[in-house]
Formats: sequence, structure tokens, C-alpha cells
Amino acid sequence: MKPLIDRLKKWYETEKHAYDFRAGRNAYRTWITEIFLQQTQIAAGKDKLKTFLKRFPDVVALARGPESDVLAAFRGMGYYSRARNMFKAAVYIAANHAGKMPVSYNDLLKIPGIGHYTAAIIASIHNNEPILANDANHARVLSRFFELPQTTGTPAFRTAAERAAAPFFKADMPAGDVNEALMQWGQTICKKRPRCEICFAAALCAAHKNGNELLFPVKKPRAQAYDVLWVMQVHRSGDKYQVVASGRNFPFLKGELLFPGFLALPPEMKEQSSPDKMPAAQRKKLMRLAHTLPPDFHHAITRYKIAVKLIYVNEGVAGGEYLTAGELGARCHSSLMQKALGRLDKLEF
Ligand code: SF4
Repeated sequence: MKPLIDRLKKWYETEKHAYDFRAGRNAYRTWITEIFLQQTQIAAGKDKLKTFLKRFPDVVALARGPESDVLAAFRGMGYYSRARNMFKAAVYIAANHAGKMPVSYNDLLKIPGIGHYTAAIIASIHNNEPILANDANHARVLSRFFELPQTTGTPAFRTAAERAAAPFFKADMPAGDVNEALMQWGQTICKKRPRCEICFAAALCAAHKNGNELLFPVKKPRAQAYDVLWVMQVHRSGDKYQVVASGRNFPFLKGELLFPGFLALPPEMKEQSSPDKMPAAQRKKLMRLAHTLPPDFHHAITRYKIAVKLIYVNEGVAGGEYLTAGELGARCHSSLMQKALGRLDKLEF
């Protein structure tokens, strides 16, 4: 391992990314940065991250919220549940750690919404704990370099990857640098299409030696993609539109404000509407109409390919609330609803 570790150190010393979000970082900033960068490409998330950290410079400010401000500052980053969890976690830290972000792996894991990856990154950078974060880049590099046969994402792979990475953490290199160097190696050289011709470790790499680069990492078969038709009913009263919070049993965008609607899911899944108790006759009528019209737009959420049809209706559903276009823009955070709002002026009322 020594020759590999020496090469990695040398390479990282000269190639280490000098991201501006790393300057003057502390555990709180590292945490928020990880949440933002998990959502998007670094370039796209950087400006939003900067604005967010200006508005919420520490845990105490974030815990003070209010939640609606946190969600608004997260707009455009997708997965609002992460912004909600981030807010909940800040409230927890304010209450349980006197507003100071913990840095030990075990303390971090107790915080709601913080999992192994984030805890390992923070603990390795800010507490020098030798814990592999094991993200997709780590998995790709380690599985190729050592030809690890275990399927990624399984406990067996995690054990094998941690065993393979252990010598890096015993070398004379800060634990945070080990995690970040392996990650950068995966991001810039050992990419999906590996750039073995420029790799500092090519002479030592098992997959490269055997011409097996593309056989690793071993992955689970792809999950099936599902086509979904989402009918949204738009009811206007004066200059306001009805929205409801996504129901408990509705599979998408939990807690988000949406136009009331109905999903036609694949046969193996139950059909669902938001709100939960949309009358069956209304659903049927909407569906019949929706099938005769082309979708207004398409949207993807994880493995669901969603065709969205907006239909103007004369009567709203029970409950919900009525908001002006400006209020909708401010309070409907999901990109699916933002797309729907962008289509409102094209609807025939
Ligand atoms: S030689 Fe190729 S496959 Fe091996 S670690 Fe380098 S880039 Fe990845």
C-alpha cells in the first residue's frame, strides 16, 4: 500500500481543489455544504450555498428559522424534505448541544437527518476520525483499484471498502484529507468513464491491469422506471388558486403545497389522490378528461417519469387554502409546482 499512499498524497498536495466554500470552514459550514452539494453539481450549487450561509451563518441562526425562510433559501435545490430535516436538525443541536455543532461521529449520528456519510465527512475533517464516508466516488475508486467483488450499497461492500481504505487512514495524512482525496480522485480521474491514461495510480490498479475497469463497481440491477400520469386540478376564486398540503399517503413531495390532484400509477401500485379523500366521481371525471389531452409538462422524481396534466375546474375540493399567484410563487417550493405555476397563464379558464 505504501507506494499507492505516497502517490495519492503527492497527487493531492498539488491537485487539491481550492473551493472557496472550503475557506474558513467549520463543522456547521461543512454540514450545510454537503447538503447543498449532494443536491446538485458544485458549480450550480455554489451561489445558492453562499447566499444560504449569509442568511444562516451558524446553527443558532438556522434553528431560529423560521422554517419557511429555510425552505425559501433552499429553493431550486430539489428534495425539500432535506431542507426540512436540516431545520429540524438545527433545532435539535440548539437544544441538545447548546447551539454548537458536534464533531464526533457518534454524536453526529444521533442528530435527526444526519446519516453515515455526512457524519463521517464532518468527523474526519473536524475531529480527525478515521472513518470512510463511502460515497459513490469512494466506491468507484476502491472497487476498481482492488477489484472488490461485492455489490455496492450492500453491508458487505461497506465492510470491504472500509477494510481496503484502512491503510490510508493509518498513513501520515489527516483523516479529512483521505476522504476528500479519494473523492476527488473519483470525481476527476476514476470517473464513470475512467481516465486511466492520466491516473497517478494506473501502474498499481488491479482493474486497469486486468482490463476490467468497466466491470467495477459491481452494481445492483437498475430499479424499474415507472410512468405516472399526474392530473392537477386548478380552481381559481377571484385572483386566488386553491392548494392543499400533500397528503400523508400521497407518495410525492410530502408536506408541500400542491394543486389538488390525482395520480394514475402503475397497476401494482395503489392509485392515490391529494388530498386523500378526493371524491371518486371527481377523480374518474378528471381522469377521463386527462386521457384525451396531451400532458402540460414532464417531470422526473427518482424512478418515476411523471406526465403532468393541468385541468381547470369550476369547483374546488374540501379544505386547503387559496393563494394569489405571488403567494404561490413564494410558498410552493417544489420544482414540479414551479413548473405548474409557469403554465398557469396558458390554461384556458
Ligand atoms: S487506473 Fe483507471 S480504473 Fe484504476 S483507479 Fe485509475 S482511473 Fe480508476
